Amino acid sequence: MRACVLTAPGGIDKLQITDVPDAHAPKAGEVRVGIRAAALNHLDLFVVEGLPGTAERFPHIVGADGAGFVESVGPGVSVLRAGDRVMINPGISDYTCEFCRAGEHSLCVNYRLLGEHLPGTVAELITVPAHNVARIPSLSPELTWAEAAAFSLVTLTAWRMLVTRAQLKSGETVLIWGIGGGVSLAALRIAKLHGARAIVTSSNDAKLDAARRLGADVTLNYRTQKISQEVRAITNKRGVDVVVENVGAATWDESLRCLRRGGRLVTCGATSGPQVSLDLRRLFWHHWSLLGSTMGNAAEYAEVVRRLGQGELRPVVDRVFPMDRVREAYERLAKGQQLGKVVVEVSSGDP
Ligand SMILES: [Zn+2]
Repeated sequence: MRACVLTAPGGIDKLQITDVPDAHAPKAGEVRVGIRAAALNHLDLFVVEGLPGTAERFPHIVGADGAGFVESVGPGVSVLRAGDRVMINPGISDYTCEFCRAGEHSLCVNYRLLGEHLPGTVAELITVPAHNVARIPSLSPELTWAEAAAFSLVTLTAWRMLVTRAQLKSGETVLIWGIGGGVSLAALRIAKLHGARAIVTSSNDAKLDAARRLGADVTLNYRTQKISQEVRAITNKRGVDVVVENVGAATWDESLRCLRRGGRLVTCGATSGPQVSLDLRRLFWHHWSLLGSTMGNAAEYAEVVRRLGQGELRPVVDRVFPMDRVREAYERLAKGQQLGKVVVEVSSGDP
């Protein structure tokens, strides 16, 4: 099968489109999916740079998100059939550890992500547990393959952050950094769905204009405005109820300056660097909650898919690249040029 592989760590130049052995035939509880489109995430940039703990075997097939047709099913799989249009939840859990048994699959002690610890989605075939596959809901207009591929990782991540971890309520104000990113855009959709007021930031005014059209109540340009000052002014010095963080080092201090007494900061990433400082006196004095979050559990995934079926969480696709231009797709993401998901078209035609 054709696939996009990383031949060694060290950057986008190490990506190649090549022929590799087909993904293995599905075993009990597994399905093999013929991928039509795969979406990139910031994670994929870390993988090509050789993040510790990521792929150690090369060539490594990249990509976490994907959508396509079920090509074949393994023994014991009754809910899916060959030909079903599906999208993939990239978080693979063992379904046996203490956390999985409690329904918290993204806390699994053996949690692994497609394209990071396991072969990924930028390939004509991938074999995954049937647990990790959801039928693409029927919508009007129908979801494109690119939209279906763009959905899972960021929507699941943002849902758990805002709904489960931060417990966002109607009427609250949420600050979302870097609105071009997929998690941030999904967070904006989810915040508006819950009746919250959304303040979003970007360094790019065109992205801020687009964010307003997508429902942002207040837009701030972090290159020309001091975010904490603006937020304090907008909220009558009170600060926001919730901050959605995925930038890390570059925004952390400002995030805390924006947070109200008793506020919640929820983070799922550190794209600008993982090391931050914290004055514990401010943490306890202000009764802050600092919340970590990664991906989401099976119930949360089912819920976001159900909401998608109601037309509520349609993902924003930035641009679609054919697979032989995959490096351009990575470059676009690396330069932060996107508004929404950068997608790679893997194959075309019926199953
Ligand atoms: Zn587990």
